[in-house]
Amino acid sequence: LIDIKKLEKILPKVERPARYIGGEKNSVVKEYKEGMTRFLFAFPDAYEIGMSHLGTAILYYETNEREDCIAERTYAPFPDMQAEMKAAGIPLYSLESYTPAAEFDFIGFNLSYEMCYTNILYMLELAGIPLRSKDRTEGPIIVAGGTCAFNPEPLRDFIDIFLIGDGEELNMELLDLYNEHKGENFSRQAFLEAAKNIEGCYVPMLAKPGERVRKRYVKDLDKAYFPSKFIVPLTAAVHDRATIEIMRGCTRGCRFCQAGFLYRPVRERKLKTLCEQADSIINATGFEEISLNSLSSGDYSAIQPLAFALIDGLESRHVSVSLPSLRVDSFDEEYAKKMQDVKKSGFTFAPEAGTQRLRDVINKNVTEEDVLKSARMAFESGATTVKLYFMIGLPTETDEDLDGIADLVSKVRSVFYSIPKEERRGSLKINVSASSFVPKPFTPFQWCAQNPEEELRRKQRYLKDKLSKLKGVNFSSHFSPLSLLEAVFARGDKRLNNVLESAFKKGAKFDSWHEHFSTEAWQEAFAEAGLDMHELAETSYDFDEELPWDVIDCLVDKRYLKKEYDTAMKETTTRDCRQGCTGCGFGGRCK
Ligand code: SF4
Repeated sequence: LIDIKKLEKILPKVERPARYIGGEKNSVVKEYKEGMTRFLFAFPDAYEIGMSHLGTAILYYETNEREDCIAERTYAPFPDMQAEMKAAGIPLYSLESYTPAAEFDFIGFNLSYEMCYTNILYMLELAGIPLRSKDRTEGPIIVAGGTCAFNPEPLRDFIDIFLIGDGEELNMELLDLYNEHKGENFSRQAFLEAAKNIEGCYVPMLAKPGERVRKRYVKDLDKAYFPSKFIVPLTAAVHDRATIEIMRGCTRGCRFCQAGFLYRPVRERKLKTLCEQADSIINATGFEEISLNSLSSGDYSAIQPLAFALIDGLESRHVSVSLPSLRVDSFDEEYAKKMQDVKKSGFTFAPEAGTQRLRDVINKNVTEEDVLKSARMAFESGATTVKLYFMIGLPTETDEDLDGIADLVSKVRSVFYSIPKEERRGSLKINVSASSFVPKPFTPFQWCAQNPEEELRRKQRYLKDKLSKLKGVNFSSHFSPLSLLEAVFARGDKRLNNVLESAFKKGAKFDSWHEHFSTEAWQEAFAEAGLDMHELAETSYDFDEELPWDVIDCLVDKRYLKKEYDTAMKETTTRDCRQGCTGCGFGGRCK
């Protein structure tokens, strides 16, 4: 164990010490017994971000339910804590038992977003573990899973095993395999070779040219493991609420949306299962809000009965129900009213593009009428604040599409003022956000270039100028270098491993935190590697070119993605595949 006395001395010197002490309600502290396998879930970002991550919570409890395993957690310490830890000689440690990370059998990183990659190296270094797989002959096996694992190449030198797809079954199979191998004669090489044979495991060191690893998915989500409780954070987390996952996957086929293609097919949990899960989680945590998680909540086949059942069941306990990813066209009057009764919050709509032409290109099957109708319902039910999300830099975008954004915002505004003054419940606030489009692997736009930085900056200014003329509209947007780096790493290849290590050595870490982002570190690292980040982000791939992420088979056919790209260029939509299969490659497997 680490020296607790030393830890106690440094904690008062750092910001939010609660991030580093564990002991939260519902955390699992198990006694280590000889022969148990120890798995450390390492979230490569701050405690308050990682605590809200559903996938980690599922696997943490699932692993701890095994008698032969212990699962613990660690998060990236902020630089103030890192400095103190270094001075006191404290390595990265787990929050449950204060065990040094290097003493675990596995360290599992979650890859939710590209901008956490330097924190993986940062955490390995804090643990005293060699960064590159080839330099590790002993110590924990380093695994990584999550959305970004679908393009593992930018991290291939640092990770021993990538887990591709749903983790519930995959992680358990990996642990079973480890239990078979461990013991006095444990051979790291033999274990990695055997792990390569598990479907969904990509072992870059042993990968042969032309091999593809198929993603894993749980066939029956209703039977998949889901915890009956969550850890209640000691310090405010990003989402201070309970979460139930109502469905996984999406059939809509928005052409920019990576998750929509990666997590096919759609699988739902039963209403009864969800009500039971919600009840036990609220009992176990005391959270005052429960969030229904999915890519498109309104598409859950029994969304209103579910929302009403939960609201009715939880209202008397003062628990509110939130649906973060409700599509505008699934917005219903009765529902809006009901939700507003429970919690006076704002409403969020994501039309993504300002004109019907561009919404057709991206296959966002939402019309202006849908947006305005939903806004009316929101305002009539008492909302005064709405959020509208758009993207700029989408393929084929012109200034007309930007004018369309301003136009749509203006119409939403008019809807509010068309309601009789005495019925409005306050003054209107419309928060408009326009993020920069990032082309992602396994989408129909995977071959597309990102708009040049100057062009994105110009578009932001253009839009800002237009929206500033509308009273009550708040447009807070500026170009972020993160969009550029995100594009580089999302579609990056193995050359980025050296760039990543070099940027980290020059001080890059916590890249998604504005105050910690180091432009210089990244610029120097790219220059040293002879690479130009602008060029990488602005490059379009040829359709017949081998793509870095072709090492993974996400089960959606590449020819289908190409066909979808062609359809996009014709400004034509593709139907939701619940209304009839559109032939994405999953075939009968999705039934
Ligand atoms: S195979 Fe057909 S129904 Fe299944 S996810 Fe693909 S397009 Fe949808």
